[in-house]
Amino acid sequence: MTADPSHRLAAAQKLKAVMARHFMELDEAARTRSKKIAWCTSVGPAELALAADFLVYYPENHAAILGANRTAAEYIPLANAAGFSPDICSYLTSDIGAYLKGETPLTRAYGIKNIPKPDLLLYNTNQCRDVYDWLSFYARRLKVPIIGINTPRSQAYPREDVVASCVSQLREIVPVLEKVSGRAFDIDRLREVLALSRECSQLWEAVLHAARTRPSPATFFDHCIHMGPAVVLRGTPEANAYYRILLEELKERTDRALGAVPEERHRLYWDGMPVWGKLRFMSETLSGLHSSVVASTYCNSWVFSDFDPRHPFRSMAKAYSSIFISQDDNYKENYIAAKTQQFGVEGIIYHDARTCPHNTNTRYGMPNRLGERLKMPYLIINGDLNDLRCFSEEQTLTNLEAFVEQLEESSA
Ligand code: SF4
Repeated sequence: MTADPSHRLAAAQKLKAVMARHFMELDEAARTRSKKIAWCTSVGPAELALAADFLVYYPENHAAILGANRTAAEYIPLANAAGFSPDICSYLTSDIGAYLKGETPLTRAYGIKNIPKPDLLLYNTNQCRDVYDWLSFYARRLKVPIIGINTPRSQAYPREDVVASCVSQLREIVPVLEKVSGRAFDIDRLREVLALSRECSQLWEAVLHAARTRPSPATFFDHCIHMGPAVVLRGTPEANAYYRILLEELKERTDRALGAVPEERHRLYWDGMPVWGKLRFMSETLSGLHSSVVASTYCNSWVFSDFDPRHPFRSMAKAYSSIFISQDDNYKENYIAAKTQQFGVEGIIYHDARTCPHNTNTRYGMPNRLGERLKMPYLIINGDLNDLRCFSEEQTLTNLEAFVEQLEESSA
């Protein structure tokens, strides 16, 4: 099954250039020591580092590249041999394994020999503990300072005491940034960066919202590719310029009623992590079944509506401590229910990612509860973000076909 090329987004070429520039800039800074480099977790306090004039590198993005180009399997065993369990985050094990082997996909993509060495490691446990253990490995190995925010998870609602604690922890990062960078922290620069991040978040949300039209001009699988700048370049003008271009293309598609899936018949929601090495397989299979995945929890994770440059610390604390993954199941169910309505969804696909229990919502009864509440069919796909030994194409194909048949019957 091959996707019709006319349905591919032309902005992908521009995206390639934007991402290439990001990595080349990091490489240049690492080789010439012209700028300090911070490594940051994907929903960590990147804005602080950018405001202190660091370049920011995201190990999760590097790990997702290892997943997408299906090389993770070569590296996971090396991390396992170093004592990291095969049951923990396969982003972590593939990234650490690649480091232990002295390899990076950036070499093949951009001619970059090594990942950029950090001067500082920044984390936020709002998504899981694995990110802390992951960066701690590098802190020990590379003898680099590590600092971050310990955010509680399974919160029933955004709590004031949690926000206050995160504000204090964010403030504690500032003197460390000053020490490593050797320059005074500029609060006005933080306001500027936060304004750029907020704009990025708004533009990215507009990209996701474009999928509310029928047929949808893009799917979750497109979003997984085009979310790159929202993750690694938020807080910079480059990300915002890119999303303006992408939005124009989506608008043009919407005006022409050009859907990402030919003859879109079913609209679905995706919960959980992507299966990075099988994006194309999933996209083409669902496209062949005239089913468009129009919304997802995952891609929405980089919408930070609370950012407010007038209150930089407080608004960052609020935005980062109230992300979907850090809330409890009641909150998550209400969130997903609202999204299915907004996007006109008729079925939900849950990805049970073997090594990411934190971003898997199938294990405490949510699909049953939401299925009953919304009177909506659902499918649970067993797989993983990077470890493809946990994923069966045959099984998934059979399950998807049966699921779409069920949708056809209920809409007949
Ligand atoms: S949320 Fe899941 S995939 Fe992301 S770093 Fe944590 S364990 Fe890994």
